[in-house]
Amino acid sequence: MPFCSVCDTEVAAWLPHPNAADRSPLMSMMGTVGSDLQNYLCPNCGCNDRDRHLWLYLTISGLADRITGARVLHIAPEAKISPLIAARRPSRYVRGDLFPTSPDFVRVDCERMEFPDASFDLILCNHVLEHVTDPEAASREFYRTLTSDGYLVAQTPYVPTLRYRMEFTEKLSPERARFFYGQEDHVRLFGRDVVDCIRSSGLEGDLFPHGRVLPQHDATRYGCNPLEPFFLFTKK
Ligand SMILES: [Zn+2]
Repeated sequence: MPFCSVCDTEVAAWLPHPNAADRSPLMSMMGTVGSDLQNYLCPNCGCNDRDRHLWLYLTISGLADRITGARVLHIAPEAKISPLIAARRPSRYVRGDLFPTSPDFVRVDCERMEFPDASFDLILCNHVLEHVTDPEAASREFYRTLTSDGYLVAQTPYVPTLRYRMEFTEKLSPERARFFYGQEDHVRLFGRDVVDCIRSSGLEGDLFPHGRVLPQHDATRYGCNPLEPFFLFTKK
């Protein structure tokens, strides 16, 4: 029986993404690792496969237990994950977005953050780096604003067998961006070098495979993409 890690409930089946059939054929050909569009929505809470995977990664790795009393920056906060973070009672919880959609959010440009050095113990910045102009600059800002034993979680779609990212020198039309990058507001398709991009800031870390972090969690039952690794980095 499928089990949703976000609403903590057994469900009959995952629902497909409404536009699952519209996926760029290039993304399939390249083997892009992103959302599982066929096993996407939870019929109970409406979370998606990325939310479920993220919450499993955060809880099983022990990071979720470190939230209590910690200073957390959550960029582009996932609507279904944000209440779970808040419920763990961080001492400071900043929800940031380049274009804030709620009065609870503050404007954060992750390439130029206005927070002092060492402001946060944990930064969550998922599905953002594929949108920003200069992901190396964003990584440097994560490094700067993390405490010395702080962690960054930065889930990002990527192609595991592509050595270098694919990024045109010009801004693509929405149609071409959807075809080459997988979504109209993406500005690149990362390859394996997404790790080098984040490490270039001084952060250490890696893409940890599902089977290593979650060996007891069958991806089909938990409705997540087993090819999506845990993007975990630390300043240590
Ligand atoms: Zn659910």
